[in-house]
Parts: sequence; C-alpha cells; structure tokens
Amino acid sequence: MNPAPHGAGPAPFTVPPPLRIIENAPLQRLNTFGVSARARRLVVLEDERQLPEAIEATRGFHARCILGGGSNVLFASDFDGAILLVRTRGRARIEDPSPQADGCSLVRVQAGEPWDDTVQWSLAQGLAGLENLAMIPGSTGAAVIQNIGAYGLEICERFDSLRAIDLDSGEIRHFTQADCGFGYRDSVFKRPGGERWLVLELVLRVGVGLGPVLSYGELRARFADQAASPSAIEIDRAVREIRSSKLPDPAVLGNAGSFFKNPVVGRAQAEELALREPGLPIYPAGSGSGTDQAKLSAGWLIDRCGWKGVRNGDAGVHAAHALVLVNHGSASGRELLDLAGLIRDSVHGRFGIWLEPEPVIVGRL
Ligand SMILES: Cc1cc2nc3c(=O)[nH]c(=O)nc-3n(C[C@H](O)[C@H](O)[C@H](O)COP(=O)(O)OP(=O)(O)OC[C@H]3O[C@@H](n4cnc5c(N)ncnc54)[C@H](O)[C@@H]3O)c2cc1C
Repeated sequence: MNPAPHGAGPAPFTVPPPLRIIENAPLQRLNTFGVSARARRLVVLEDERQLPEAIEATRGFHARCILGGGSNVLFASDFDGAILLVRTRGRARIEDPSPQADGCSLVRVQAGEPWDDTVQWSLAQGLAGLENLAMIPGSTGAAVIQNIGAYGLEICERFDSLRAIDLDSGEIRHFTQADCGFGYRDSVFKRPGGERWLVLELVLRVGVGLGPVLSYGELRARFADQAASPSAIEIDRAVREIRSSKLPDPAVLGNAGSFFKNPVVGRAQAEELALREPGLPIYPAGSGSGTDQAKLSAGWLIDRCGWKGVRNGDAGVHAAHALVLVNHGSASGRELLDLAGLIRDSVHGRFGIWLEPEPVIVGRL
C-alpha cells in the first residue's frame, strides 16, 4: 500500500453533523430486495470526521456490517449486530499540475455518493469513461467491492486508487490498482479479512482521451448505422435504454440485479458442454482469469432448467430475465435464499456447475 498520492479527506471548515444512531432499525427501505429485516443498531456515517465516534458506536457487537445502497445484499435474517451506513458526500476534480498526456483527469468521489450520480456528474464535466456503467444502482464506494461491470467495461479499468479505513485498527491506507486484486465481480474487499476495510473515497481516471467501448454486441449494434463514433453521452443514453428495457426497477419489483455470477470454467469443459447443449453461449473469461478459461451465461443455464417466471410464494425468478430473483411483495430473505438453493441444485444436476451468488448474504444462514 502506498502513501497518499493525491491528498486526502474533506477540509474541516465546518462542524460535522451529530452522528445518527438508530436502535432496532428497520432495513426494508435500505435494501433493493425490499426484504423486511432489522438491525440491532444502525450508525449513519455522513461525514468522515464522524469516523472515530461511528466506529466506537459499532464496537461491542458480535457482528458488524457496512452498507451502501443495499443493492447487492440479501438479508437472510434480522442482523444481530451493528450496521455502518455510508452516506458521505462530495466529488471534485483533482487539480493536476502536469496534466496527463492522454487528456484524462483524476476525479475524487466520496464513498456515499450514488454511483449513477457520479456517472452523470462526470459526463456533465465533459469527462468520458464511465458511461457503460450508467444506471448501476448503489454507492460509489461499493462499486469497487465487486468491481462492477456492464456493457463491456469494469470499474477497475477507470480506477486510479482509493482510500480506506481499517475498522479494527483505525489505520487509513491508500490502495493502488494492484493492491485491490480486482477480478470478475471480485476484489480483495470481498475476500476473507477484506470486510474490515471501509472504503472512504475513490480516485477515478476519466476524460476525453478514453475512446468509446463498444465490445458488447447489443451496444455496438445500436451504432452500426452511424458513420461517426458515438459520443459518451450517446452511449450513456443507449445503455440507459437497454437497461430500462431489460431489468426490473427495484422501486417497482424488489431485486438485486443478477443473483448469480456467470460461472468461469475451464475452456475444455465449456467446449464439451457446448457439444452437449447446442446454443450454449461461451464468452472470454474477463479480468483476472487465464486464457484457458471461459465464462458461461448463468442466465442461460438457469433458463434451460426451466426457472424463468417461476414463483414460490412471493420469491420468484423474473419472467424475462432468469438471472434476476425478485421479491413479489413480502418474501423473506430466507425464502429467496431457499429458491436460490433450488436453482443452484438444478443447474448443478444438469450441467455439473455450481453457481455462486453475486450479492453478499448478511445474517444467519
Ligand atoms: C437492478 C440492479 C441492476 C444491477 N446491475 C449491475 C450491473 O450491471 N453490474 C454490476 O456489477 N452490479 C450490478 N448490480 C449490483 C449492485 O448495484 C452493485 O454491486 C453495487 O455496486 C452495489 O452497491 P451498494 O452501495 O448498493 O452496495 P451494498 O449492497 O450496500 O453492499 C454490497 C457490499 O459492499 C460492501 N460495502 C458497501 N459500501 C462499502 C464501503 N463504502 N466500504 C466497504 N464495503 C462496502 C457491503 O458491506 C456489502 O458487502 C445491480 C443491482 C440491481 C438492483
């Protein structure tokens, strides 16, 4: 880990707001599944200067959890511990005395900023590069935890560094790209021991020097008739249209996006399966994987097992998107997990592949 490369933290000109601590806190509005659960204590971090008091308020519980927008968690039960809810705000361009030759700039964003607002703010500054990741729900700080990706881009490709605090020791560290160990929907923060780091701020590298990313077929097809390369604004608009037409809006139908990761398997296994299962899509394995590996479509595998649109009480599989588990009303986390278990078993039974959940499961299993 390196010393602070770009300065750090907000300037302490004003008095921080009083720390909000809520006991026996309802979580239904704090997770996009809309699952009803409670936390023994909820501590709302709105300003970095509240950190010492906020960390102290989470001590003495046998479990602790960080929460951003709640769009990648499933509360399996009430949470018998303290949740630290990250709501810190602030974005700024970093003044660079020797601007980057490729026309890129560095921007600093506090962890609690909604991710899609960060994409919009960046575009409004004339800074391209994040548009393929438009409309992904959640906070900016959490975007690195599973290295969010969509439409041919992962956030690690726009990442410069981050600042995080170790909730156990209070140590603040700067993480470079190499320190983060990014992989497909993965980083050091998702691995054992990683959950003690609270990401405080990201530094992203964006700007006109970054050309359009059109590797994703559906996006490329949108601009096939256009002579000039699409602008970042045009790509942003196209990504929004595609996403809105495909994915359920969590405000209308509770969900956490893709419930399973696309499985990465050996290329030989993928090719053998493709012989048995005509039409099986096979993709490059992506960041952190070797060339002898291939990525399969979890949605396709689940669909083949007949799960699309299936409903067990209020826990269901989306009718148009087999990868998305949905809460039709009052499904509990336990019911959604049970349904996910049945799906896993059937995919394993037919294809010999164990699917891995993408959201973080919180609470008693
Ligand atoms: C409709 C929908 C579509 C989606 N589409 C995509 C997609 O295209 N691509 C994609 O990659 N994901 C997608 N997601 C998943 C989700 O939006 C992302 O993973 C997002 O980054 C989660 O952010 P969050 O703030 O909601 O995290 P949370 O759900 O609050 O937390 C997720 C994990 O990150 C940890 N965490 C949160 N904040 C911090 C922090 N500041 N420091 C340390 N740890 C932290 C939590 O402890 C937890 O382990 C989608 C979800 C939905 C609901």
